[in-house]
Amino acid sequence: MKVAKDHVVSFDYQVRNSRAELLDSSEGSGPMAYLHGYASIIPGLEKALEGRLAGDILDVVVAPEDAYGPRDERRKVEVPRSAFPADLEIRPGMRFHASGPHGTDHVVVVAIGADQITVDANHPLAGETLTFAVTIRDVRPATGEEISHGHAHRAGGCCGGHGHKHGDGECCGENHEHGDGECCGGHGGCGRH
Ligand code: ZN
Repeated sequence: MKVAKDHVVSFDYQVRNSRAELLDSSEGSGPMAYLHGYASIIPGLEKALEGRLAGDILDVVVAPEDAYGPRDERRKVEVPRSAFPADLEIRPGMRFHASGPHGTDHVVVVAIGADQITVDANHPLAGETLTFAVTIRDVRPATGEEISHGHAHRAGGCCGGHGHKHGDGECCGENHEHGDGECCGGHGGCGRH
């Protein structure tokens, strides 16, 4: 069965950045399953999987435009120290959720001045060319319920925990931190935020 719209595709993967550093993989969590044709994984990867078969092994190089977008230096901004909890020691690399005009952003602290703290709201993988090593494990027609929800279900039905939309820079609303390139729990990785 070929990968096509309204099919659930399970695949194992490793993803590396342009420096060949391993960012994420399905090892440990098991194959990732997604509903094809609903932009639930990055566009470059979804495009590359179209028409492929279970058992196919492929390397997919995805340019930033087809992954997490280019870096936007305007998304690097200075914030007054007073915007952060007073009792917290702020260090570079710390991540925060920030409410702004476009909803909630994930930001990372990049520099600390006397009164101002520079945060970067770019996706951690913005500007990165990603290389996926993919092994397709299974392709099956989606159920009507999966199609109406717009996502794949694991055995046992809807997990409920990912009944939400991921807009641009939007927090998934769950109580967990996002590591570099990490997707929300329910999606098993390499999804799009
Ligand atoms: Zn569901």
